Amino acid sequence: MDSANAIESAKDQAGSRIVRAACPHDCPDTCAMRVTVEAGRVVKVQGDPEHPTTHGALCQKVSRYAERTYHPERVLRPRKRIGPKGSGRFVEVSWDDALDDIARRLRAIAARDPQAIVPYSYAGTMGLVQGESMAARFFHRLGASLLDRTICASAGAEALAATYGGKVGMHVEHFAESRLILIWGSNSIASNLHFWSIAQEAKRRGAKLVCIDPRRSETADKCHQHLQLLPGTDGALALGLMHELIRHDWLDHDYIARHTEGWPALRERALQWPPERVAAVCGLTADEVRALARDYALTRPAAIRLNYGMQRVRGGGNAVRLIAVLPCLVGAWRHRAGGLLLSSSGWFPVQRAALQRPDLLAGRRPRTINMSTIGDDLLRGPSPSFGPRIEALVVYNSNPVAVAPESPKVVRGFSREDLFTVVLEHFMTDTADYADYVLPATTQLEHLDVHTSYGHTYALINEPAIGPLGEARPNTEIFRQLAARMGFDEPCFADSDEALARQAFAREDVDFAQLREVGWVKLALPEAPFAEGGFPTPSGRCRIDAPGFGVPDYVPNHEGPESAPELVARYPLAMISPPARNFLNSTFVNVKSLRDIEGQPLLEIHPHDAAARGIGEGEMVRVYNDRGEYRCVARVTERARPGVVNGLGIWWRKLGPDGTNVNEVTHQRLTDIGRAPCFYDVRVEVSRMAG
Ligand code: SF4
Repeated sequence: MDSANAIESAKDQAGSRIVRAACPHDCPDTCAMRVTVEAGRVVKVQGDPEHPTTHGALCQKVSRYAERTYHPERVLRPRKRIGPKGSGRFVEVSWDDALDDIARRLRAIAARDPQAIVPYSYAGTMGLVQGESMAARFFHRLGASLLDRTICASAGAEALAATYGGKVGMHVEHFAESRLILIWGSNSIASNLHFWSIAQEAKRRGAKLVCIDPRRSETADKCHQHLQLLPGTDGALALGLMHELIRHDWLDHDYIARHTEGWPALRERALQWPPERVAAVCGLTADEVRALARDYALTRPAAIRLNYGMQRVRGGGNAVRLIAVLPCLVGAWRHRAGGLLLSSSGWFPVQRAALQRPDLLAGRRPRTINMSTIGDDLLRGPSPSFGPRIEALVVYNSNPVAVAPESPKVVRGFSREDLFTVVLEHFMTDTADYADYVLPATTQLEHLDVHTSYGHTYALINEPAIGPLGEARPNTEIFRQLAARMGFDEPCFADSDEALARQAFAREDVDFAQLREVGWVKLALPEAPFAEGGFPTPSGRCRIDAPGFGVPDYVPNHEGPESAPELVARYPLAMISPPARNFLNSTFVNVKSLRDIEGQPLLEIHPHDAAARGIGEGEMVRVYNDRGEYRCVARVTERARPGVVNGLGIWWRKLGPDGTNVNEVTHQRLTDIGRAPCFYDVRVEVSRMAG
C-alpha cells in the first residue's frame, strides 16, 4: 500500500481492515501492533505476530488500548477552567476561542520575556512526530525556556554515552544465546516483557538468570538467583565484582588493552572493595558477591540487561558507568550474546535538528528548566541567576502533578493563580485539573507517527487506524494552529505529519516506503557490535576515564547512612517506588479494568518491619517524612527486604485514598550525572493509621 492509500484506508469508515501501528508508551519493547477496525471503530489491538521481538503479544495494559481510547471520560472538546485551580471545574469552548485566547496570553508574556513560557513534556508518547517535532519548532521560534527532559533516564543515558560514546548495546534477540544473564535493576516481567520471553528462551537452553534488585519482584521469583541489595548500592557491587576479577585474574587483558582507556585508575579503586566491604554496604553476604563474580567471569557468553530503575539514586550515573565497564573486563563483547543492554536508542539515525529546528532560535540562548525541579522552579521569583518567574506552562505528553518529585511543592506551584497553564491531554489527569485550558489530543490510534526503540533495533511506523474522536487533534496540529495565530510564518510550520515522519530518519538507513509496507525496518548493525572495540567514542575505546566524568566511583545515596546518618535515625526505612504492574508511569490508572486489578495504592513492607510497627496485612498506613505524607494500604510481604519499603506507583493523586500519591515524600535533589531525580533514594517512616 502506498502512503496515500494507507492514509485513505485509515479514513475509510466501512468494512473491516487491519492497520499497522506501534505502541507509543515509555517501555523498551516498542511493540508492533495490528489494529482491527470494523465500521470505523477499533475492535481489537494486538501484537504483530510477524514483528521479530513483539511475537504477536502485547502486555495486558496496551491490549486494553481500545478501552482507553473509547473511554467515556476522554476529553473530546477544548475546556476552559471556571473554578479554582485543582477543582476540576471547566466548561467546553470552541477550538477557535481556546486557541485565540491562548495565543493572546502567550504573546503578552512573550512580549515581556518569552523565557517566562516553559514547555513541559516527556514520553506520554514516544513518537517522533507527536513528541518533539512541531512542538519543539513552536517553542524554539517563540524563544521559550528550554526543558531539560530528565525525569526518567538521563542519569543512565548520559553515563552510558560517557562510557560507550552513545546509548548503544547488544541486540536484544541475542540474549537467547547467553549462558548467564544478569537482570540488573529491572522487573522485566512488568516492564520489559518481550525481553523476558527471550530470557526464558535462554533459560530453556540452560542459561542461568540472576536478578539484582532491592525488591523481590515477579522477575526475581522466576530467576535462579536473586541478590536483594540495598537501593543505591549497585555501584559498590560492581566494584566488588571488579575486585574479584582482578584478584583471580579473570580479566581479558587483551580486550582491556586494545579497547578501553583508563583501566589502571579504576583497577586501583576496585582493589579497595573486597567482598566484605561490598557486602556491608550492599546488604548482601560476601559469599554472594564472590559467587556472582565467579559466575560472571567464568560463564561465556555473559550478558547484562541493565534497566533504569537502579539509576534513580544520587550515584545512579556512576553506577551505570561502573556496570558498563564489566563486559569489557571479561571480554564479553567478543560474542554477540555477551555484553550489555541498557538502551539501544542511540543506534537510530534520528534527524532531530530537522524535526525540531533549533535554528529557529536564531541565535537566542534561552535558559533551561529542569523538569525534575519544576516544584521548586514554579515557586521561584525572578532573579539574575534564574531569569524571569515562570508565567506560563504548556504541558503535553506528561502528567507532572502526579509524576514530578516532591508533589507538595509541585501542587503549590501549579496552584498559582498567576500561572497560565495549557495542557494537551486525553483525560482530566491530576495536571489537567490545574490547567486554564485543556486541549483534547488524539491517541495513538488516531494519528500518524514513527518510532525508535530503546530496547530493540527496529524503526516502526504507526498509521492512524481511525480519524480523531470528537474534536481531538494531534499535538502537531495544535502547535501548527498556535504557530499560525502567533504569526509564525516559516514554511516548516506548514509541514504535514507525513512530511515530519519522512524527515525523522536518515533516508539511507530507514526507507520510508519500506516502513509503510512492512511496518518496521531493522537497522543494519553488526551482530556483535563491539567484538573488535569500535565504540562510538572519539578513540573507539570504552572510556573508563571519560573527559568531564573522570573514573567512576561508588556514590552513596543522598538519604543513606553514609551521607545522612541523622536523617536515617529519624526515618529508618529506605523507600523505592517501582511501577505497579498494570500501570505505565501514570498512564492507565484511569482504565478501570486495570485499576481494579491493582486495587489500591500499596506499600510493600517486610514482615519484621511491619511487626515492629504493629502493622497488619491490608491495613491503612501513613507513609511520611519531613516533606509530606500519603496514605496507602500495607502489603506485608517479603517482596520488600528488611529496612526497605516499596511504594508501588504511580497512582493519580485524585484516585488515591487521600488525594495524594507516593511523590508526596520524594525529593528534588538530583543524580550525580544527568541532573535526574532520585525517586529511589528516599527515607520515610511508616505508621498504622489510628482507628
Ligand atoms: S507497554 Fe511495552 S510491552 Fe506493553 S505493548 Fe507497549 S511496548 Fe509492548
